[in-house]
Amino acid sequence: MDSNKFDVIIIGSGITGLSAGTSLLNSGKSVLILDKGKAAGGRTASRRIESPSKNSFDTVDYGAPGFEVFTPVFKNFVSDFLSKGILKSWFDILAFDNNAVISKYCGVNSMREFAIELSKNLNITQNFKVVKISLDNATNLWEVTGETGISYFCSNLFLTAPLPQSLELLQISSIKLPYSSLSILDLIQYEKCIVLAIQPVKEFIFPEQGFIDNFNHNIFLAVDNHKKGIKCSNQLITLYFSAALSEEIWDYNSDSLVKALFNQSQEILKGESPVSYFAHKWRYSKPTSFYHEPFFTTHELPGLYICGDAFVKEGVEGAFLSGKATANHILNEDKPD
Ligand SMILES: Cc1cc2nc3c(=O)[nH]c(=O)nc-3n(C[C@H](O)[C@H](O)[C@H](O)COP(=O)(O)OP(=O)(O)OC[C@H]3O[C@@H](n4cnc5c(N)ncnc54)[C@H](O)[C@@H]3O)c2cc1C
Repeated sequence: MDSNKFDVIIIGSGITGLSAGTSLLNSGKSVLILDKGKAAGGRTASRRIESPSKNSFDTVDYGAPGFEVFTPVFKNFVSDFLSKGILKSWFDILAFDNNAVISKYCGVNSMREFAIELSKNLNITQNFKVVKISLDNATNLWEVTGETGISYFCSNLFLTAPLPQSLELLQISSIKLPYSSLSILDLIQYEKCIVLAIQPVKEFIFPEQGFIDNFNHNIFLAVDNHKKGIKCSNQLITLYFSAALSEEIWDYNSDSLVKALFNQSQEILKGESPVSYFAHKWRYSKPTSFYHEPFFTTHELPGLYICGDAFVKEGVEGAFLSGKATANHILNEDKPD
């Protein structure tokens, strides 16, 4: 059983899981990260699309297009990745309230490649969907089971999926959180976001940074991946549809959904079908409220930690900080008094 046993198992190879995993690995812990997806990154997602000439690939970011930096801890991390040429400064904006300059950052090649760099050296098994977790009260070991029936064991288990998914995993595993905690965690909801990536027949003119906030009533963001300067040699545009519209058309069949999305994108498409496109439905894009601590744990379920972007702060920075704080918590617990 020993090759199946780890100090920590992390469910999720998004930024929360990668951040936690890196801190734990650097402190000598044995760590296994399990993720149901094909590649590390979770919602820092990118896809390669064959270029029209068919002799190369363009990349389009279709999850988080970039992120901002507010805290010194995250700033240190970002500075390191900037110096390694993995991240780059995208553009600056002025804050509404105090006119402070806020910089936006993104992956040099893509957001996914940034996550993949962060995943280097970590022990990750992708395409592994966790369907059940259980605690052996005699040994305090957690058993983590995938859909193929394979199990791994650990003393500490981090759940880093979007919070409703982590709570669902607990529920299907018949693990009960204390009622007072569950009633708070259950209130935290996420907005849906449908994303459409398109290559228009005729170029649509973007500002220099390739970013248009509040594009129209139903599209809260439009990004030109070519102008953004990632690995993309043709104009490929990512459109982010509002939570209200995403909710309204969520259950449409795929033909009706694409039709509705194209209708909303006429300013860009100008009546022509795009050269290429894909749509993606994010059930959990960003939380609408937050848990007040960087992670959740309870002495009733020793070694269980729930963390992610719904803990204190949203976005890539929130995920990074939550993962790191959870890792630090168990590292500090190990220190002699
Ligand atoms: C459309 C969109 C736009 C965004 N825009 C921004 C932005 O502008 N700025 C910003 O900072 N942030 C933005 N974000 C949010 C940002 O992407 C996330 O906050 C951050 O990436 C969350 O990382 P995470 O690791 O907490 O979660 P995730 O990235 O969701 O990672 C969780 C991982 O858990 C895995 N998983 C779930 N259940 C299981 C299971 N049962 N078994 C195994 N694996 C499982 C998933 O496959 C996933 O890889 C955006 C997100 C979306 C979707």
